This record gives sequence, structure tokens and C-alpha cells, in this order.
Amino acid sequence: MRRRLAIGLMIFLTLLGASAAVTTGVIAEGTRWEMAWRVHESGQPGPTVLVVGGVHGNEPAGASAAGQIQHWPVKRGRLIVVPRANGPGLKDGTRFLPGVALKTRDLNRDFQKTDSKDGPIGEPAQALWKFVSGHKPDWLIDLHEGTDFHQINGKSVGSSIIDVHSKASGVAVPLMLKAVNAAVSEPKKKFVRLRYPVDGSLARAAHERLGAHAMICETTSKNQPRSQRARQHRLMVHALLTHLQMAQAGPHVLVGKDDFRVAIYDAGGVGGNGPRNVDRVLAGHAVVRRVGAADVRDGVLEQFHLAVFPGGSGSKQAKALAPAGRKAVQNFVRSGGGFAGICAGSYLAAANYEWSLGLSNHKTFCKSVDIPKVGRKSMWYRGPSATVQMELTDAGRKILGDKKGAFDVRYHNGPIMSPMGKAGLGAFQPLAHFRSEVSRYEPQKGTMTGTPAIISGHYGKGRVLCISPHPESSPALYELVRRGLFWAGNKK
Ligand SMILES: [Zn+2]
Repeated sequence: MRRRLAIGLMIFLTLLGASAAVTTGVIAEGTRWEMAWRVHESGQPGPTVLVVGGVHGNEPAGASAAGQIQHWPVKRGRLIVVPRANGPGLKDGTRFLPGVALKTRDLNRDFQKTDSKDGPIGEPAQALWKFVSGHKPDWLIDLHEGTDFHQINGKSVGSSIIDVHSKASGVAVPLMLKAVNAAVSEPKKKFVRLRYPVDGSLARAAHERLGAHAMICETTSKNQPRSQRARQHRLMVHALLTHLQMAQAGPHVLVGKDDFRVAIYDAGGVGGNGPRNVDRVLAGHAVVRRVGAADVRDGVLEQFHLAVFPGGSGSKQAKALAPAGRKAVQNFVRSGGGFAGICAGSYLAAANYEWSLGLSNHKTFCKSVDIPKVGRKSMWYRGPSATVQMELTDAGRKILGDKKGAFDVRYHNGPIMSPMGKAGLGAFQPLAHFRSEVSRYEPQKGTMTGTPAIISGHYGKGRVLCISPHPESSPALYELVRRGLFWAGNKK
């Protein structure tokens, strides 16, 4: 068996005389199916647990969760994680292996079938199987997503654990269900136990050929942000590791000690493509994780340099965070974390609402005015997405790049920002001004041109960046946004 152990990182600890180590490498190296892996060796006897994500490219939460779980230390046994089994599919957002013939394109049907004498089919399944069988896992957890809640729509396996019903999994699976269901309030959306992993799946082959206690954990993508789905995967895997006496830390370790770590809030109050666009802005420049309100309340921001709150509704984001989440964001920034708000996130950071975070010393133009023949209207609303012009200030050019003159940017009801003058909070600095405007109602005319489009400030030890328009939705402005985020996160 040819297994290339490209060791990217080795950390040795001494635990009761035994050596713990983290090793990393790549499966199918040099092919288009490359899959990074990471092994946490505790140095103590115990089970081998292998976690796989991203077998289906249109089920990104499994890859997200596995990408987080790969940073979990273990106190006994061995934890092996392959976060992105179908990298090209994840990149394209396709279930199948891109460019592969109909018969073999579903990676989770390419492993050895129950009645077959043939091994796995196709390069990625063969390479992954070599790796998996070489490690002889006691447990194999494959992280997937269904499109609907199984208890509501029996055609989907969403929100279930599909396991082999071995004696050991008969003990573990109920514990995993209990852990994940504790945070699911609607009875019909709770996870249920199903049988049996489909023929040709990695889980079934791992059970039948290797004797592993194997299972497929399915979240539900319908109306649930990715952060929530990945959190559910984490809760299930962590419950298993706790049961096996392997877990060394809690279930919400999301990152390692990578250079620049960014949390993008994607839960209640976030709309449109904001998180995806920020992903694109930072691709290759930062380790990015989606986080939800429950994650924020659990203190995950402390693991990051920067928190980004994208477009949607600032008041709804505040509501989803709840007082405990809002306090967690404030504490994070006060102690040196960075905050970047885009559109709604800049309402959230403002100082003029009772629900806003007061991280930035600005208020927003939001009074309600009686409009003849229309009625009473709040002035924040200026209509559908539109293109306006903005221009950087001298201070802005230092942070955001040497861009001269006015240029186009997408605008969609971002805040019209002006000084709040709140005591104890330093003044903000304009980094850009609007050079044109959009308006829906007469009293809005002339209130936008010349006002700050991007501002910077400080809150405690942290930096705060507020962007009213949507430069993150224009590839031509990715670099400008990236520079702003680097500044806010104090990237060295
Ligand atoms: Zn799947």
C-alpha cells in the first residue's frame, strides 16, 4: 500500500511519558482529488475515531464542521479528520464529483458494495479507502446534510444519524442524539436514528469491510445557517468523543493557531450573499469560520482576530444575539478583537439604538417622517439595491489602498452615519464619503451625498470598521475590503 505521509506539522507533548503528536498530510496528492488530513495522536491507548466531511460537495456544513473538529485535541486514542473529501465538488457546490461519468460520480456510492468482490471505484474513492483502511478505525463518522427534516419530510434523511446498529453504536448514538437535540426546540426538527448506511457508502463499507462502528450524521440545510448545521455536527461528534473518554476540550473549538482568523456571523438577521462574499474577499488570506448567535454566546469569538457582521438587518442581528451575545461581542472588541460591520453590521455597531452595540461613536439617519399620501416612514429605507459613488479620504487611502477619485459601489439601505458624540467613546474617522445618493422619499434628498460611507474607530483595545455600502459584492473592490478587514483585525 502506497501511503505518502507528507508531514506538515508535528507537535510533541509529553503526557505521562507518552508522546502526543499532530500530523498532517494529503491523500491523492498531486491529483485533482487531493484531500488534506490531520491526525491527533494522544499517545495513550484508546479508540481510533475517523471523521470525514465534504463527501457531497453541496453539503458544506460537514466540511465546515470537520475543518473545526480537526483542531480538537484528544486525551486518549487517536482522532483522524479528512474535512474535504470532495474538494472540487465543494468548490463548485455540486453533490457529485465534477467531470466524472454518471455511474461513478457519486463518491458515496463508490465504495465496495455488500455483494461485490470489487474494491472501490474511481480515483478519489480508491485513495480515500486506502487511507481509511490503513488506519483501521474503530469508529467512522461521515458528516452529511439533508435538504429537509426527516420527521417532517420522510423523503429526506435530514436531521438524522444513520448507523449500522452495532452494539457499541447502540449506546453511542442515543447519547449523540441527546446532545444535538438539547438545542432543537421544535419536536419535528429533532434528530432521529435511522438504519442502514446506503450500499456503496463509505460508512457501510467501513462497517462491512473493516468492522468499524460507522455512521452518517445528517444535518438539514433548509432554512438553517451553515454555522448552526456545523454546530450540530460538532455536538454529535463531541458527544461520541466524550462517551469514548477522548474529548479534551469543549465542542466549540473552531480553529487552530493559524495566522489570521476571522469569524463571519451568518445567523439570525443576515440576508443575501454577505457571508459568501466575505468568504471570497478573504479566500487565501485568512482562516474563516461561520459563527452563529449560540456560538457567540458560547464565547467562540475569543478564538478569532476579527468578527464580521454582514448585511441583512441590524436590529434582527441584535435580537438573535440576545443580551448575552451582544455583551460577548462588546467584550471581545474591548479586549482587543476586531469588529467589521457591513451595511446591517454598521447599524449593529452604532450608538443610537437601545439594541445596538455602541462600538462606534456614530448614529444613523433613521427618524420617522410623515410623507404626504404615503404615511409615516422611517428614513433608513431608500429602496432596492442601487449603484452610488464613493471616494476615499486621505486616512482611507492609507488603510484601504491608494484609490483616487470617486468610484462605483453597490448600496442597499446602509446607514447614513454622523457623529453621536457619546461620552467615553472616541470619535470615528471617515475613510470614505458618498459622492452621490439614492432616495425614496423627499426628506431623504441631500442627506446622503458627502456623508461618511466607511468609518474607523476604537472600542477599548479593539478596532472597529463600519462600511455602509456593499463593496464586498464587487470583485473589483475585494482588495479594498480585504485591507479594511486586515486593519480591523490588526493583522500583522
Ligand atoms: Zn450527503
